Amino acid sequence: MTDMPELVGGALCLDFVNTVDPRHAANRFDYLSEYRALVAWARHAGAIEAAAAPGLLRRAARQPAAAREVLRRSIRLREVLYRIFASAMARRPPPRDAFDRLNHELGWAIAAARLTRSRAGFVLQWGDHRSRLDQVLLPVIRSAVDLLIDGPLDRVRECPGPGNCGWLFIDLSKNGSRRWCDMRTCGNRAKAHRHYTRIRGRA
Ligand SMILES: [Zn+2]
Repeated sequence: MTDMPELVGGALCLDFVNTVDPRHAANRFDYLSEYRALVAWARHAGAIEAAAAPGLLRRAARQPAAAREVLRRSIRLREVLYRIFASAMARRPPPRDAFDRLNHELGWAIAAARLTRSRAGFVLQWGDHRSRLDQVLLPVIRSAVDLLIDGPLDRVRECPGPGNCGWLFIDLSKNGSRRWCDMRTCGNRAKAHRHYTRIRGRA
């Protein structure tokens, strides 16, 4: 099993966007290489319960074409989400085609929603499309909708890390000064790079 990407986004939808590394490079590594990897990521990120994974993998083995289609749809959603959050960061309206696509996915996600009533009152339960191959996408869509509606959108940042990192994260630092997706990787790489150019400059 391949290594899993670090969960530095602060929201499930951003961690999902960060399944390519680095984002802006021609030879980027894609963690979502096959349906099995998508399920592994969903487990890793807590998007599905560990107990749900074996059933999904068995179903995918029986329906390989459907599994490939879910993977294709996932990658499309991932790229759509990147473009929507990138435009939000630039305080621009989302690209129409990306926004339409997210709304399309939302329509699917909400079709499983149910109004339920507990002692505390009425609650909208999003449902889980349980036992469907594409159930892994539901919590991602929900997370994206939550972040777009409730924010903090003005704290979504893109890592300028060396090698065109481009990972997205929510900056929860008090003064809003977090720069790197992860200090141990991009922060250190940038520091090492500065150090290296300083030394070279002296030579
Ligand atoms: Zn980074």
